[in-house]
Amino acid sequence: MPGALQNEKAREIMTPSKTTELMKNLKMLSKVDEQLAEVSAENQLLHKKIATLTDDINTHKNNIQDKLKYIKEETHKEHKNEILLKETENEIEKLTVQQNSAKTNEELQIFKKKKASLKVRMSELEDAVLAFLTDLDKSKEEVAEEETKFQAEEQRTNKMILELRQKIAECEQRQSEFLEKRKEVSLLLPADARSKYERVFAKEKRNAVVEVKNRICQGCFMKITLQELNCMWRGDDLVFCRNCNRILCLPDDELIDDG
Ligand SMILES: [Zn+2]
Repeated sequence: MPGALQNEKAREIMTPSKTTELMKNLKMLSKVDEQLAEVSAENQLLHKKIATLTDDINTHKNNIQDKLKYIKEETHKEHKNEILLKETENEIEKLTVQQNSAKTNEELQIFKKKKASLKVRMSELEDAVLAFLTDLDKSKEEVAEEETKFQAEEQRTNKMILELRQKIAECEQRQSEFLEKRKEVSLLLPADARSKYERVFAKEKRNAVVEVKNRICQGCFMKITLQELNCMWRGDDLVFCRNCNRILCLPDDELIDDG
């Protein structure tokens, strides 16, 4: 039977030192993948920090832009009021001339009434202009203060972003080193074990290989059977946890190294 023959062959190949080597290499690959996961999480976090800093600085910048826009709009309104004020003043001057040359008392009363109402209007405009100018002065002061603060903040942020980018570069360097190591370690594994590992790793993402201590899977803490433990000792095939599907390995101090 080909199945039995294959088992026989495997048993022949799997000396204790071979089992030890396989388990050690599997553990090493799993460790490299753990390191890769850690460095990738760190990288993501660094990118997120940069995004937050950039968002904050842009929000602050937009705030200042909004305030400058408000100042511009208010300055425009204030100018319009000043023009109106000037026009009203001219209007009053004209009425004074007309009033002086009024021919009847009735005419005089009409001019006086018009002038009085224009004076009220003028006073209102003067108040408005004054209010605008006071408000504008305050806004301009505030925005100038904020711009100074913003410049300092922008400098600080740019420095932080630069440092974060440096850390990202270091992360990427480590990442490529781990990837290189992963390639090397993968090549140490027999093709069959390698593909089994990749299958578990693709599903579990973390800790594809776990140790068994006191017959307990250290991945999910379920007890394994004696038969399974024996199978691990013999090393004819990889043993998977029935509960969490991870590859089970013996602890380093239980591995026999007769090589
Ligand atoms: Zn388990």
